[in-house]
Amino acid sequence: MHPPKAIMLLLGRLFNAFLWDGESRKIHWTSWEKLCFPKEEGGLDFHSLGDMVKAFSCKLWWNFRLQVSPWAKFMLCKYAQQSHPSMVELGHSSADSPYFLVAKFFIGDNWNEAKLRLWLPEPIVLQVLQVQFDPSKKDSMVWSPSANGLFSVSTAWETIRKRKKICLVTGFIWNAIVPIKLSFFVWRLIHNLLPLEENLQHKGFMLVSKCVCCQSGTESGLHVFLDGSVAVAIWDHFFNVFGLKILKFSCVSALLLHCEVSRGKSFNCPSYLGGGGFLKSLGTAKVFKNSSFQGDTDVIWASLAPSSTISHRHVSVSWGRPSPGSLKLNTDASVMQNVAVGDGLVRNHQGEVIFAFYKEFGDVDILATESLSLLFGLILCVQKGMFGFAVEVDLVVLVKLILSNSLAKWPLCNTMRHIRKIISQALVGISHVFREANGVVDKLASLKLGSQRIFNSSQELPSLVKAIVALDSMSFSHFRTQVVRE
Ligand SMILES: [Zn+2]
Repeated sequence: MHPPKAIMLLLGRLFNAFLWDGESRKIHWTSWEKLCFPKEEGGLDFHSLGDMVKAFSCKLWWNFRLQVSPWAKFMLCKYAQQSHPSMVELGHSSADSPYFLVAKFFIGDNWNEAKLRLWLPEPIVLQVLQVQFDPSKKDSMVWSPSANGLFSVSTAWETIRKRKKICLVTGFIWNAIVPIKLSFFVWRLIHNLLPLEENLQHKGFMLVSKCVCCQSGTESGLHVFLDGSVAVAIWDHFFNVFGLKILKFSCVSALLLHCEVSRGKSFNCPSYLGGGGFLKSLGTAKVFKNSSFQGDTDVIWASLAPSSTISHRHVSVSWGRPSPGSLKLNTDASVMQNVAVGDGLVRNHQGEVIFAFYKEFGDVDILATESLSLLFGLILCVQKGMFGFAVEVDLVVLVKLILSNSLAKWPLCNTMRHIRKIISQALVGISHVFREANGVVDKLASLKLGSQRIFNSSQELPSLVKAIVALDSMSFSHFRTQVVRE
């Protein structure tokens, strides 16, 4: 999509007029495009039309590639002559960027390593080889920026939008307890967009400027709000009240940043709570939330937030043996100092160890490690001829993800496909277990045992792990503390 630039500009001006003009036309202090950034990046959380056009173009392309609508089928016939869309030459295409289908790098059921090495550098070849494929299944599209693998305009926008540096004082300006009118005022102040005489002079107004408060100096943002005699007196007063160090600041942002970094450390504000102060009224009006004081729970104001009572409940959990004649696999994973470790252990109905494994997976996140660990365990079980066994993992998200049949993010979706295939073929029952009852594999994952180990009997296991296996076989109870919020 390429909407005419002039139209986009006009629309931007209309939006801008809505923001700045009241009943009559007033000064537009900044252009619309400059406001189109998230608050964290110094904007006002508006979306730029240009970015939205790109995001919706992504949606069009996605729907076209999905080929589920009559429109998409028509477009394929008309513009791609039924061949693969990425193989079609664009009108103005350059011949120096070759396209290949993944299938060209496949031999039988596996990657064609030699051919990959012909085209790609070694580190990328290793990454590609890690991608688990099941050529018997139909291809499905995965949108990599989203957590569930499905396309969304918001993730597309987030990926392609223009960005600015993070503004450090955002949290201080845009805050649930500051009225929006004040937030907007401070935002204008730090971007120098207030109708001060100095700014008006820059806009071409012919006027002589003299500060109203002290009758000396020009009326500029710096003078009125920072280093004019009245401003200095006000800041001195409040810095004393809050116990903040008085420093010399070059701009209002620097002053706000100073307050922000002093939060929780040196704020002291007894005089603001005494005798029906402003903050106390806010507290009575239930404006504060507990989250408003995150990281500052020791300041006196925190008592103004509604208190929630938290109690602890203890429950007893234990590892459950599988039914007689069947086996149970427990897997777990840990990520420490960028080393992802997965492990698992198979036991029979008497709690005796059949085999166990330990494997390092390189630099992946915890959900991916848990999945890879489970997959590795499942493959080992199937190789040993196991069928109709039970599996327990202590990550609820993983169990839900596997059972939900929903697509997962890239590249986790490949591991999910593989796991689901084995589970349905080998009739595996998967369920969640509390971490306390999964202690054996939790312990094994915390040890450093090298890149890969297979233990074929309990004698080979580290003694700490053996001890927990023994406790589990006697159905030893572990205590689990649950937090109850009321
Ligand atoms: Zn002054």
